[in-house]
This record gives sequence, structure tokens and C-alpha cells, in this order.
Amino acid sequence: MKKSIIIGLLTCGIIFSFWTFSKNTNVDSNIMKLQQDNYKYIYLTFDDGPLNGSQRIDDVILIEKLPVTVMLVGEHALAKPQYLELYRENEYIEIGNHSYSHANNHYQLYYSNPAGVLKDFIRNMNTLKLTNKIGRLPGRNMWRVNGRSRNDISSGIEAADLLSKNGFALFGWDLEWMHDSHTAEPIGTAEDIFKEIEERLSDDRVFTNSHIVLLCHDEMFQHTYEESELKKLIDLLNSKSDYKLSHLKDYP
Ligand SMILES: [Zn+2]
Repeated sequence: MKKSIIIGLLTCGIIFSFWTFSKNTNVDSNIMKLQQDNYKYIYLTFDDGPLNGSQRIDDVILIEKLPVTVMLVGEHALAKPQYLELYRENEYIEIGNHSYSHANNHYQLYYSNPAGVLKDFIRNMNTLKLTNKIGRLPGRNMWRVNGRSRNDISSGIEAADLLSKNGFALFGWDLEWMHDSHTAEPIGTAEDIFKEIEERLSDDRVFTNSHIVLLCHDEMFQHTYEESELKKLIDLLNSKSDYKLSHLKDYP
């Protein structure tokens, strides 16, 4: 009887020590990983597609083989199913949810009905057959990521909170590469935007230090691979050995 109690206690002791050891090892390896990781992470995101321009983005990404995220609108995908297919088949492209209707571009009205916004996002999930819950609000730079949040204006806060409660991770942007509303051409060169990326990362003017989310739009890049400003930006980013392009699913 006594012997079996002693054996029992010994077994428990061994299991407990092993558990503590493996737990500490995990903690140590995470700390080591953090110390070793001096990278800066760049998230290239493209909104409002599929649009004219989507095919050019797909071309560039297939050649460069780098991760980017496209935030798609269901209504646009139904109008251009061939581009949606291109994106789906491209393993470097992550597809996110930018709502089904894009608020019909009446943002104030759209956000006055948070339940309607949630419904619109779920409708888009089903239309695009998305398995993730990565999203971006139309017309709003709002964040709901891993328990942290940021808002630009008050209209949309309730909707963002409701989406977050329903499991959506919402990404705003740290920097926008603007474009001309008539010609859709990018405003500023790849060099200009690269310089701004560098400055923001070094000043930590970003939602998360060492991580920068860049907003572009699908329609901005309608030139061929050789002439694409997007390709030029990627070349500049590749010239920095401590820069890494990444998908939003890996955002901390
Ligand atoms: Zn948009």
C-alpha cells in the first residue's frame, strides 16, 4: 500500500517536472525568437477589387512570388469573376473581406445600421467563399486586431465592434499610396512612397511598431510588369535585407 503511494507520488513528480521544463523551454524559445527578430514587416494591401488593374497586380505577384493581401468587394467580384479566379489561383495572394456592397458609397447611412454592416460582411464571405475573417471597413480607417483598436471617426465604431465580436479582425492602414480619382494613376512615385515607409517605420508612426500596412487600390496599377510602379516599389523593398513582406493573417 505504502509502496504504491510512493510510486504514485514519484510518477506525479516526474510528470510535473517534465511539464515545467517544457513550459519554460517554450517561454525561452519565444523570448529568443523576439530578440532575434529585427525585421520590419510590410503588408501590401489592395482595396476595392476585382477591378481593371487586378490582372496586372496578379502578373506582378506571380513573377515576384511575394505575399500581398487584396480586400475584395463582392459586387465587383460578381462583375469580374475572371479576376476573382486569378486571385484565388495565386498562392501568394491572401483574400480579405471589404464588404459586399462597399456601403454603396453612402458611408454615414451604412454605418448607422451596424447589424446591416455585419450582414453585408457575411454576405461577402459567402459570395467570395472566404474561410478567413480578415476584413477592412469601406471608407473607414478602423482597427480591431488581437484586442487592440483604433478609430478614425465616430461613425462606424459600433459596426466595427459588432464585427469584432463576431470574430472579424479589422485592419485599417498606416499609410496610403494615393491615386488620381480620374486617371487612377498613383500620386507620387515608388521612390516617394518607399521613403515614407522608411520614415514611418523608423519613427514608429504605425499601429504596431516595426509593422506597416500600406493601402493601395487595384485600379492604380494598369501598366505592364516592366513599367509597373508596383514592381518598382517591390524592388526597393527587396533592397532592404531587414524588410519582409507578409500576409495580414500573420500580423501580431
Ligand atoms: Zn474601399
